[in-house]
Amino acid sequence: MDHHLLDLAGNTLLNVTDRPGIIMDKGEGMYLSDTNGNRYLDFVGGWAVNCLGHSPDALGRALSHQAARLVNASPSYFNRPMIEFARSLTNRCCFDRVFFASSGAEANEGAIKLARKYGTLKKNGAYDIITAHNGFHGRTLTTMAATGKAAWEPLFEPKTRGFQKSVFNDISSVKSLISENTCAVMIEPVQGEGGVHAADPGYIKALRRLCSDHGILLIFDEIQTGMGRTGKWFCYEHYGVEPDIMTLGKGIGGGFPLSAMLAKEFLNIFDPGDQGGTYSSQPLAMAAGLAVLQALQDQHLVEKSRKMGRYLTDRLRELEKTHAIRHIRGMGLLIAFDLEADTGGRVVSTCLDNHLLINGVGERTIRLMPPLIVSERDIDHCVAVLGTAVARR
Ligand SMILES: *Cc1c(COP(=O)(O)O)cnc(C)c1O
Repeated sequence: MDHHLLDLAGNTLLNVTDRPGIIMDKGEGMYLSDTNGNRYLDFVGGWAVNCLGHSPDALGRALSHQAARLVNASPSYFNRPMIEFARSLTNRCCFDRVFFASSGAEANEGAIKLARKYGTLKKNGAYDIITAHNGFHGRTLTTMAATGKAAWEPLFEPKTRGFQKSVFNDISSVKSLISENTCAVMIEPVQGEGGVHAADPGYIKALRRLCSDHGILLIFDEIQTGMGRTGKWFCYEHYGVEPDIMTLGKGIGGGFPLSAMLAKEFLNIFDPGDQGGTYSSQPLAMAAGLAVLQALQDQHLVEKSRKMGRYLTDRLRELEKTHAIRHIRGMGLLIAFDLEADTGGRVVSTCLDNHLLINGVGERTIRLMPPLIVSERDIDHCVAVLGTAVARR
């Protein structure tokens, strides 16, 4: 039966990524099961999305309750969960205003549009945004243009103009790119897709000062780092600075498609019609977001992320003494390490064979981003399986 389904998949789906020959069927806590009944311990977590684990009760209850009441009213009307979620989310962070969307890229598009609107109104039409090499902001044409992946540069030209790439963690590189036409600087405080590289505290402080001095906006893409992933609610809190705009995605919906673009009060400058979307503030998504926020709080998962992140890092450091891994790094439960050789593909597939899901970044780096509900036992199991995959031979 699986062979039939896999053939069908091969013949019907547009081929956009290499997937292993299994079909995921069920999720429960830290585990995913395939159609053959194999259970996998999940340290990918839906790509840093399933912060509450798989099929959490809180999410199921909120969705079925909201589905029975109101699925969709149109973005032209207020709905109750939209207002409640906007209040809860802005209460949790340093921002005053929020725009909701469905995907991370869409939230970043909103941030870019807001920065350009600011440039139009306050900076004589300035529209350039300085981003960073090795950064990642999404797969729409504009967010691809903002992304600092060298391999993407020649693709799908012409992309959106107006992005300059600075060297991450190098403030002088940002300085040298600022011009009359700059309206914002946009970075990830920890470069996630780029292999989990955290910004230096000195760099972030200098960046904040530089942006304020020039009257340009500082945008943090916290789509991967937000919602407790790094051991604080939002990664900017680690640095003691406040950006002007922040985008959230991934964990914010716990698996339901949801993203947000948050801004300070002085950026409440969109005119009606500037920004919107059919699914903006969609009631089911709002109910999901509200339930996730509440569960993160009730289950103390942000603290847990910090604690379990430390435990996982300690266990990896022990492994490092005898195994072919190095450069263990990360914050909270966003962790990566390098391999001594280009064996990423083999390590990921060996772990899969042993029913552990991990994420390879290129051939040299392994990234771990488990649900925030992960226990010490889960981590011990993960490290044991990893140990067999990265043994020195
Ligand atoms: C995943 C990610 C995005 C894109 O989010 P999508 O939901 O895939 O559009 C953007 N920025 C960062 C930092 C991400 O990790």
